[in-house]
Amino acid sequence: MKMSYSKLKYSNMFLNSIRKYSTEISEKSTKWNSVVGLEIHAQISSESKLFSGASTAYGQPVNSCVSFFDCATPGTLPVLNRKCVEAGVLTALALSCDVNETSLFDRKHYFYADLPAGYQITQQRQPLAVNGSLKFNVWTPGVHKTPYEKVTRIKQIQLEQDSGKSLHDTYINKSLIDLNRAGMPLMELVFEPDLSDGEEAAGLVKELMNILLRLGTCSCKMEEGALRVDANVSVNKENEPLGTRTEIKNIGSVRGVAGAIKYEIKRQIKLLEQGEKIVNETLSWDAAYQKTVMMRDKEEKQDYRFMPEPNLPPLRLHMGQGDNKYNLIDVNSFKNKITRLPSEIRQHFVNEFKLIPLMAISIVDEKKLTDLFEETLAENKNRNPRTVANVLMNEVMQFLNKNKLTLDNLNISSKQFGQIIDLLEAKKINLLVVNNILEVLIKNPEKTPEEIVQESNLELINDDEELLKLINKIFEDNPKMVKEYQNGKDKVLRAIMNQVIKKSNNRANLQKASEMIRKLLRPNQFK
Ligand code: ADP
Ligand code: MG
Repeated sequence: MKMSYSKLKYSNMFLNSIRKYSTEISEKSTKWNSVVGLEIHAQISSESKLFSGASTAYGQPVNSCVSFFDCATPGTLPVLNRKCVEAGVLTALALSCDVNETSLFDRKHYFYADLPAGYQITQQRQPLAVNGSLKFNVWTPGVHKTPYEKVTRIKQIQLEQDSGKSLHDTYINKSLIDLNRAGMPLMELVFEPDLSDGEEAAGLVKELMNILLRLGTCSCKMEEGALRVDANVSVNKENEPLGTRTEIKNIGSVRGVAGAIKYEIKRQIKLLEQGEKIVNETLSWDAAYQKTVMMRDKEEKQDYRFMPEPNLPPLRLHMGQGDNKYNLIDVNSFKNKITRLPSEIRQHFVNEFKLIPLMAISIVDEKKLTDLFEETLAENKNRNPRTVANVLMNEVMQFLNKNKLTLDNLNISSKQFGQIIDLLEAKKINLLVVNNILEVLIKNPEKTPEEIVQESNLELINDDEELLKLINKIFEDNPKMVKEYQNGKDKVLRAIMNQVIKKSNNRANLQKASEMIRKLLRPNQFK
């Protein structure tokens, strides 16, 4: 079974539809160099908040998940949530960070209505972990011809609380405050400025989400605000010091990350070329208008009056030496809890299953595809991994794409998918019929592909006589095509084949049919 590049590209475009951008100019120009560094807030998956017992459930009625501590009632004290620290440690280890035996909590002061205490508890001076790294692939269909690998350093990972949310109601001309988010557990990952454009930033975010999802430490639901990206962007000329940076806050989608950075790089270059200066400002990304807009000026550095949080002792972890008499979190024990990471799985798919890297990247990008692929192979060792991969990424993805379905709608089991593969390998059906089977299967998940093939009469037409009858009927109905092909117009064969596909309800053995047609219409070529 051969897979055409265009087909693969097509399904990947769907799979990565969040990374579909215009192909026009890349933000790199020959004269300008652009630099990007990300700060990512990932909400730690946990039942309760970082310092209180209030629920972290999403979509609850406003102000229904707020403890006395979360609304800064005097006299209340923070109690550190052990589960959140454990999730932070696991994440830090998976990202090759050095976990600090002792980390500290600080108060970062600023005045805002949705921050009742007037400060955020965060880890700035001595965070949970430092000096990590993340390797990822950069590949956006339509932008890059082939994927390339990139590594970024991680400066630090810190634990901190989220703030509440202000709702500006223009109808009653009042600002309302929802404190459900106040105190939500976050890990902030600060990356070094190692990236050079929006596509690389998008690649980083995708890989990080993939890792966090597999570790189970963050839901990564950007639409719920569970993962937010701040992008720092600057441009400079080669061999000159780094330029002044701007910061785009709270970008809420992978597509937005690439789009916002691309826009910002172009904006900065344009300003500099007009002889103007870049000011260190905070921007937000307006996804509807596809532009960055100013939020606040940062030229006068805000004084956050950092000070140690007096109500929380230093956070101490057990690093494996001596006995753990205070039952501290044992860092070493989390080393075994790191699940297989996407990079490892991709490598395995390329080495063991001989998948091309592009295919491995696409399958591993989505956990659901990875699982279906691996389970289908595990159930029957005779199945050819490349066939399984191709059918999954071409026929299955195109089926979803065509019917405007997502992977969440794909409710087929590895048993069912495996049976489709077996039917194909046994030459009982052809590739086109996979679409017909899926159509029935998605509505009747209790059926087996074999049953569907029988009931819907989808078996491959292999019989010469039957094929000949079909072809002759097509010749009869399309005399013009026949003439044209006989007169040397090669392209018409495809149109005739389309008729074969249509008239046989996808069932004809296409290789055989095409050979028969050529023999019938151009007998000279076969002498
Ligand atoms: P600050 O102390 O001002 O917060 P940091 O060194 O913590 O600065 O960096 C904050 C973020 O800005 C990091 O993600 C970093 O990668 C990024 N960054 C720093 N300098 C630049 C630059 N010149 N261009 C783009 N991003 C940068
Ligand atoms: Mg900083």
